[in-house]
Formats: sequence, structure tokens, C-alpha cells
Amino acid sequence: MKTLIVALQKDGKLVSATFELISAAKSLGGELVTAVLAEQAEALAADLAGRGAGNVLAVSNPALKYFNDDIYARALSELIDKHAPKVVLGPATFYGKALFSRLAALKGGALTSDATGLEVTGEAVTVTRPSYGGSVIARVSKKASDAPYFVTVRPKIFPESTDGAGSVTAETVSDACFQSRQTVTEVKVESTGSQNLAEADVVVSAGRGIRGPENAALIQELANSLGAAFGTSRAVVDAGWAEYSTQVGQTGRTVNPKLYIAVGISGAIQHLVGMMSSQHIVAINKDKDAPIFNIANYGIVGDLFEIVPALTKKFKAELG
Ligand SMILES: Cc1cc2nc3c(=O)[nH]c(=O)nc-3n(C[C@H](O)[C@H](O)[C@H](O)COP(=O)(O)OP(=O)(O)OC[C@H]3O[C@@H](n4cnc5c(N)ncnc54)[C@H](O)[C@@H]3O)c2cc1C
Repeated sequence: MKTLIVALQKDGKLVSATFELISAAKSLGGELVTAVLAEQAEALAADLAGRGAGNVLAVSNPALKYFNDDIYARALSELIDKHAPKVVLGPATFYGKALFSRLAALKGGALTSDATGLEVTGEAVTVTRPSYGGSVIARVSKKASDAPYFVTVRPKIFPESTDGAGSVTAETVSDACFQSRQTVTEVKVESTGSQNLAEADVVVSAGRGIRGPENAALIQELANSLGAAFGTSRAVVDAGWAEYSTQVGQTGRTVNPKLYIAVGISGAIQHLVGMMSSQHIVAINKDKDAPIFNIANYGIVGDLFEIVPALTKKFKAELG
């Protein structure tokens, strides 16, 4: 069985979720092909080949500098026709999800998003994914057919592949791929001052318990002391105390860090669905009956205005 990985880049750098896809693809066995689309794709392709990404197809064009799901989908469609993979893997990020729904529709293939496990079962590929906000784990099997099976894989589940053998093939696609009705002329990064939430290993999130925007800095300082990304509950965003890009939950970002620290967050289901698959959860809340403690590995019952400064001081002293 042949698997195609779609490697995504931002600002000419490969996103780390791409390296995890190599490990995910290897768990399926079979032949591996990777496609990387960029303004200058060769160096990225060489990096991927050195990480065991199989035959890496490098497509370079100025029109591929910025992510454009219309152009990317058309170019990938041609590569799929040429290389005939049975499975196509991409990251379950904003870009990956936008691209894969378009691509699956274009190729008439099935799409399963947010995979946390992949395996070959007989003649089928079986994907494990959380459903209904993580309250059940679904196993979705798709038998081989003419159209490939499109799967987006949740970041931070598979380890990054760091080495292996591979080769690079320069590919071209037809000019028609670049005739899009939409043009991306500029990408502006929101200045949240925090690192990318979805890819962070440690996230510290603030809830309504912080009482006001002036106290967000307290939580941000704790996040900085751990090199963590800063997140929030929707209550904080709705109150205008933080930007929407920091919101974790059903209508915000899904995070999957090694450590999630929830400060002054009650633990409403709409918040939990965005962070409950974190490896370790620490909750700080003055209400011992707050629902967040039901899913926390460690709970600190007390006033965040006493606990957070003490933790920040300790982390700064220990971690420099
Ligand atoms: C359709 C829909 C989508 C939604 N999407 C999201 C989403 O994406 N993300 C999200 O987060 N919510 C979402 N919500 C809102 C969600 O239901 C909750 O209202 C919200 O998560 C509550 O945020 P909170 O925990 O910060 O606030 P609260 O529920 O008000 O909790 C504040 C907590 O702080 C604690 N506290 C107060 N003072 C202190 C102190 N000094 N020290 C320690 N602890 C203290 C309190 O005990 C309390 O537990 C959504 C709701 C709907 C209906």
C-alpha cells in the first residue's frame, strides 16, 4: 500500500506536525511518498528525505509561497493522479483541515479527520479518532478503492521522525493549478506574544477566575517561566481580556500538550473538549468541587493570586 504525506510549510519552514506524519505513515507500512509545495521546495524536500519520508516530491513555484487551499488542492490532485497513493495523510491543523476537505471532495475520496491512531486491518485502513468531544473513541475502517483515503492526523500524537533514508524528485504541475480565483498577498501573524498553541508542549490557560485583563499578565508570566504557550477560556475572550487566538475549546483551538495548566477555569465541557487529551493536566481553582478537578491529574485548591506568583518564582529559580 502506498501512502502520500502532504508536508505543510509556513514562512518557508516545515511545520513540526509534518515530521510526526512520517512516523504515522510508517505505522501503516508499505511505500512512502511525500509531497512538499513551496516557493523553493528543494531544501525542505532534502530535510524530509533525511528523516525517512520516502521519495519526496518537491514542487516549487512563487504561487506556492503562501498557503492557498485552492492552489494546493489542485497541485496535489495532479500528484495523486500521477503517483496513485491509497492513503493520503496531512496534519489536523487549521491549514490541513481546510486543504483535506477540499482535496477529498476534488478526488471523490473518503475523509477522516483528527486521527490519533492508524493501522492496517486486513484489506482496510482503520483510523482511531475521538468523537463526541472525546467521550467516545471511534474506529473508522475504509476498504481500499480507486479513490485514496484522506486522513488528517492530530498533532502531538506520533513522535517526530528525526532520521531515515529518502530521495528527492523535482516535480512540476500544470499551469492550470495556479489559476485560482483567490490570491493570498500577505499573511499577518497575530501578536499574541505567545507561541503556537496547537503545537505547544506546555500550555498555561487563564479563566474568568483571573477577574480582569490586568491579571492576564500574571498567567502569562507563569507561562513564560515554563516556555509555555498562553491559552484562555472563552469567558476570558468574551470579556475582551485576551485575543480570540488564545481561546481553547469547542469554538477555539484544540491543544494536545504534554502539560496543561488550567488556572481559574471551572471545566465546562466546551472548554474540556479542546484540552482533555493533554498528557498531564494541572488545575488551580479555589472551588474544590470545580468540574476541572474530575479530569485533572493534579489539583491545587486555593487562591490563584497566591499560588501563581509562588509557582512562577519557583520555576524561574529552577529553570532560569
Ligand atoms: C456553543 C458554546 C461554545 C463554547 N465554546 C467554548 C470554548 O471554545 N472554550 C471555552 O473555554 N468555553 C466555551 N464555551 C463557554 C463555556 O460553556 C464556559 O462558559 C466557559 O468555559 C467558562 O469559562 P471559565 O471556566 O473561565 O469561567 P467560569 O465558569 O466562570 O469559571 C471560573 C472559575 O474560576 C474559579 N476562581 C475564581 N476566582 C478564583 C481564584 N481567586 N483562584 C482560583 N480560582 C478561582 C472559580 O471557582 C471558577 O471555577 C462555550 C459555550 C457554548 C454554549
